[in-house]
This record gives sequence, C-alpha cells and structure tokens, in this order.
Amino acid sequence: TPPGPLLRCQDVRVRFGGILALDGVGFDVNEGAIVGIIGPNGAGKTTLFNCISRLYPVHGGDISFAGRSLLATPRHRIAALGIARTFQNVALFDTLSVAENVMLGAHRRFGRGFVADALRLRSAVRAGRELSNEAERWLAMLGLEGVAQRRVSDLPFGTRKRVELARALAGKPRLLMLDEPAAGLNHAEVEELTVRIRSLKERLGLTILLVEHHMHVVMSLSDTVIALDFGRRIAAGTPLHVQQHPDVIRAYLGGP
Ligand code: ATP
Repeated sequence: TPPGPLLRCQDVRVRFGGILALDGVGFDVNEGAIVGIIGPNGAGKTTLFNCISRLYPVHGGDISFAGRSLLATPRHRIAALGIARTFQNVALFDTLSVAENVMLGAHRRFGRGFVADALRLRSAVRAGRELSNEAERWLAMLGLEGVAQRRVSDLPFGTRKRVELARALAGKPRLLMLDEPAAGLNHAEVEELTVRIRSLKERLGLTILLVEHHMHVVMSLSDTVIALDFGRRIAAGTPLHVQQHPDVIRAYLGGP
C-alpha cells in the first residue's frame, strides 16, 4: 500500500433530483483510526456510506481506498478489497442459521463458491467444519455463545446486530463501516458495545468509520469526528473540538 490515508473522500457530490445529499464532502481515514460521522437526520451520513460501498452513484469528486479510486470499482468487488459494513437496519439472511450468516462474511477470503459449497455440505466435509468452527470463534469474540445453530429470525434485535458485526469481521476487513451500531439497543447494550468496539479494534488492528446518533458512543470511541449538515461538512477534528463547535450546536438545535 502506498503511504497516505486508507480511505480518502475528496469533494464528494451526490444529487437526488433537486437535493444535494452530499455537497463536496472530504475527509481522510488513516489506518488504525476510528473516524466518527455525526449530523442531524438527513445530513447525508448513510448516503456517504452508500457511496463508499458503491451502492449509490457519485456525481462529483473522488473516493479512494489504499490509494486507488473506488469509483471505477463495481460494488461486488468492494468486499474483496477489504471493506465491510453493517446496516442501519440489520441485513441478515433470516432463514439461515447464525453460523451460516457469519460464514457468508468469510467469502472474501475463500471465494463465494467455496463458502456456498461448505454451507451446502455443512459439517460433512472438513472445510465446512473449519468454517463453522471459525464462525463460532467470531461469535465468541462478540460474546455470543450457544447461538450458532439458531435461526436468525428467532433472536432478539440486539443479538442480531452482534451477529451482523461478527459477519463483517469474518471477512477480516481493513476498513469496517458501522452504520448506527447502537441504534435500538438498550442502555446496558450500548455501554457493552462501546467497550467491545474499542477492544476489537485493538485486537484486530481495525480501521473504523462509524455513523452514530449516540453522542457518547461517537465521542468516546473516535479519534476524529466529522460533522455533516445538509450534505456539507460543517466541522472536523477531535471529539471535543467538534462537540463544542458553534455550527454543530446550531445544527442540532435547529436554529439559524
Ligand atoms: P439519518 O440520520 O436520518 O439516517 P442521514 O444523515 O443518514 O440521516 P441520508 O439518509 O444520507 O441522511 O439522507 C440525506 C439526504 O438524501 C436526505 O435529504 C434524503 O432524503 C436524501 N436521500 C437519501 N437517499 C435517497 C434516495 N435513495 N433517493 C432520494 N433521496 C435520498
């Protein structure tokens, strides 16, 4: 990898009809850092994630990963480059078991065909057993013991969110993008998640881009925080700097 940030967004612009959902947004994410994205509803946070994961077209600017522009990369190649994400509304396969969902996250390392075969044959073959053991290790890392064979649809919301995180980790990504990981969790779960993200980051050497409405979570985890409002970057810097920035306070209070 050439020197420079792992992820660089430069002057990114996205339009939906008359709305500029992103209006020239730029920032860097250095390897090993946690960068938090905040902003009121409709600020453009999820749109930004969708641009990086190539789900939305980008109308201007550039997004590069490890020194190479992503704009020419089709979305199905994004995971293979080492970018994994979770979704605001958990996106798991409800009819598959927890372990199978986690194993699907590993296809970046083994290829889709291999994982599909292993899933079909399950523990009948060594490869299937190994993958399934690995899935259990990722689940254990998230404090999820004894749920590997359960159906996802039978689990409470907070547990499903952790399964989704385990699946993202199973791809051993270089960049992990978390879209509101604390949304819908109770107070104790939010506290636990914060501690867990910090320790996973240290243990796995992750680089994390985090969208989150729980200010306590963003401010305590992030090295740098970017604040968006109406598609524009209104502040960037340390959590303390951004938290005290008058434009950020104004954006949240909805004043002029
Ligand atoms: P929230 O915190 O509520 O999730 P957000 O910061 O993630 O908000 P976005 O969802 O990125 O905000 O939305 C930014 C703007 O782009 C909004 O005005 C939204 O209505 C618009 N937008 C987002 N996605 C689409 C889409 N697929 N089609 C049309 N407009 C869209």
